[in-house]
Amino acid sequence: MPNRPERRPDATLSEQMRRKGIRDARILRAFDRVNRYRFVPPTERIRGGEDRALPIGLNQTISQPFIVAVMTLELALTGTEKVLEIGTGSGYQTAILSELADEVFTVERHALLSLRARGILDGIGRTNIRYHIGDGSLGWPEHAPFDRILVTAAAPRFPEPLFAQLREGGILVAPLGDEEDQQITVIRKQSGQPVARRVLACRFVPLIGAAGYPDEPRE
Ligand code: SAM
Repeated sequence: MPNRPERRPDATLSEQMRRKGIRDARILRAFDRVNRYRFVPPTERIRGGEDRALPIGLNQTISQPFIVAVMTLELALTGTEKVLEIGTGSGYQTAILSELADEVFTVERHALLSLRARGILDGIGRTNIRYHIGDGSLGWPEHAPFDRILVTAAAPRFPEPLFAQLREGGILVAPLGDEEDQQITVIRKQSGQPVARRVLACRFVPLIGAAGYPDEPRE
């Protein structure tokens, strides 16, 4: 019996993003250059081209492409930036950032996810990414300051340690709020002070760590 063909949506992800209002040519090109199917576990691969979040194991998710596009757009990358990403997850957003920035520093608390993402990103020849396994709610102070910081898990409050590692004039994008009510928030550092703007309601897994939510109790 022939293999059942992979059910692919009729439009590429970049075309789906364009239809949803993302018009930035560099971002659309990055979506064309990064194959999301590679970052999705085999059990979910059939849905890799759909604009939705998918499970990647350990109760974590690969983010919805539209949310990846909006957060990346808000970072206003020109290609020269040093970017800190908190929450490597599948590595998909990391790959998009590595297309659009000079250097990416990515932190993940789950060793398994970090190593899996690194395997994929090394495999597609990405050389401008540095990886760290640990509590990203505290940033990566050894490499601060950063021009941009992207948090891909929901923080319960203003991320003070991350803001401290942002360069003057830099931009931090993070989902802020509780499980029920989160907003993608853009925070710019102006004269050392945060200037914040809410962009979009969203639903992310929690940022777990010293400056995030407490860890889940272990059974
Ligand atoms: N950007 C990812 C992608 O494209 O696949 C999606 C990330 S997923 C929504 C959020 C990730 O943040 C999870 O992998 C989770 O383990 C990680 N995370 C949560 N708290 C963290 C922390 N304090 N430090 C580092 N990573 C954390």
